[in-house]
Amino acid sequence: MSTPSTPVSAPDDGRGRLVSIFVGAVLLPSIALSYVSVRFARELTETRIHTDRRRAEKTLHYIERDLVQSAHAKALEAARAVGTEALLDGRQAAVRQALAESGLDESMFEALHLEAPSIRIAGKNGRKDKSPEDTRELRAVLEAPPREGEDQVPWLGPDGNPVGMLRFRFSCSYAHVRLVKEYFEREFVGLSQLVLRVTEPGGGLIYETARTPNGQFEVERRMESASFRGLKVALRYKDVSIAGDARRWQLWTLALIGLIDLTLGAGLLLVYGNVRREMRLSRLKSDFVANVSHELKTPLALIRLFAETLELGRVPSKEKADQYYRIINKESQRLTQLINNILDFSRIEAGRKEYRFGPTDVARVVAEVVDAYRYPIEQQGFSLEVEVAPDLPEVNADQEALGQALLNLMNNALKFSRDRKAIVLRVTAGGGLVRIAVSDHGIGVAKSEQRKIFEKFYRAEDGLVHETKGSGLGLPLVKHILEAHGGRVEVESQPGQGSTFTLVLPVLGRG
Ligand code: ADP
Repeated sequence: MSTPSTPVSAPDDGRGRLVSIFVGAVLLPSIALSYVSVRFARELTETRIHTDRRRAEKTLHYIERDLVQSAHAKALEAARAVGTEALLDGRQAAVRQALAESGLDESMFEALHLEAPSIRIAGKNGRKDKSPEDTRELRAVLEAPPREGEDQVPWLGPDGNPVGMLRFRFSCSYAHVRLVKEYFEREFVGLSQLVLRVTEPGGGLIYETARTPNGQFEVERRMESASFRGLKVALRYKDVSIAGDARRWQLWTLALIGLIDLTLGAGLLLVYGNVRREMRLSRLKSDFVANVSHELKTPLALIRLFAETLELGRVPSKEKADQYYRIINKESQRLTQLINNILDFSRIEAGRKEYRFGPTDVARVVAEVVDAYRYPIEQQGFSLEVEVAPDLPEVNADQEALGQALLNLMNNALKFSRDRKAIVLRVTAGGGLVRIAVSDHGIGVAKSEQRKIFEKFYRAEDGLVHETKGSGLGLPLVKHILEAHGGRVEVESQPGQGSTFTLVLPVLGRG
């Protein structure tokens, strides 16, 4: 007893293999690459935000240093106006009086005094030269840390060397109202992309270079220097925020990655489509070889059979003999046409197909083809109706090629008709064109196939088509011929209802 055999390997699925190559070699790596790029863009955005914030913090640090330096310069200027005597004295009353006498704000300082041992002693004793004790004392003064709540700046002698230390503390009102305002107005207003705001430790506004309605700043710093201790300075950029800017950059980068992905996808589809087309073509080619061999064998076998019968004189009647001759004739015509198609097609493929154009009377070409084929057509039980409009204009055509194109259409009308065996050939003119239409009531062509049937070797998927022999070269040839004439082939068809194939040619002198 035999058991049905089970296939041990999957059938050779070309499409599946192609898909797996694309997925494995191209799609997966590109998805992985996109994933990595997206993550990288996100991390880079965070790093960017962090770096920009650090930069802003540094800017605030420099701003404070600059502000302090300008305060030092102001203190030195005021101290010079006060004079060494009052400075060495250091008492508030003496300083205030000296400030007022110099035309300065007397409540400018809460403390201002100069520590300069050698000047003090020289002033007292009228001594000019420095003793070693003076030098020691001076070093101690210069190296001493600033006192709590006081700023200090070296006091220079006429030779440019430090001779003491000026210690001071601006009054709050002066530091806030004058120093801070003057500094920011001078350095930032109208000039910079930066917006700065200074507030009191309690939050009260001291100064801002521009309004900030939502009150959001990028970074904030508490000032350390004695004159400005506890004040807060905050910074933002005028038209952008660090995070907003970074997110915008991220969005652009992601959009770019998306675009690259899309391009890649489109490229992939294109390549995939091409490879599939090539694969289909090679399958169609092998179908073609099988079809053509069959097409050649069948008529040859018939011709041989009837020729032998005739030769041996085994024909019962004259009618039978005539019928055999007709079959031989019809089959050899089929063979000739098939071979003509194949030869023409190979000439086209090699770019060697030549046309001999000349003024052509379409009605005559049509009449010749109809004359040659009316009999075999009617023999097969078809009715053939021919309508040719009178006074057709001439076209510029290769008569033989045009006849061949028409013959191919007639042949298809015969091949693809089943019960309703009626063919209509209609020739009309209008709009600078001559139209030769061949209509049948055959199996028809589905809409989705109507473009493909003009591709070489293509035969419609319909099972009915495969009952009929063919090479898949007829329509591509017709299309090539018509395009060489500056014309086109049109198809109108309804599956199950029939088809009309039309050769459209430009009138002579209009093409
Ligand atoms: P062949 O006829 O040798 O198959 P063609 O290139 O002439 O090759 O035609 C290609 C395909 O177009 C046919 O296989 C058939 O599917 C379809 N076709 C052509 N003419 C007709 C028609 N008159 N009616 C229905 N289908 C047609």
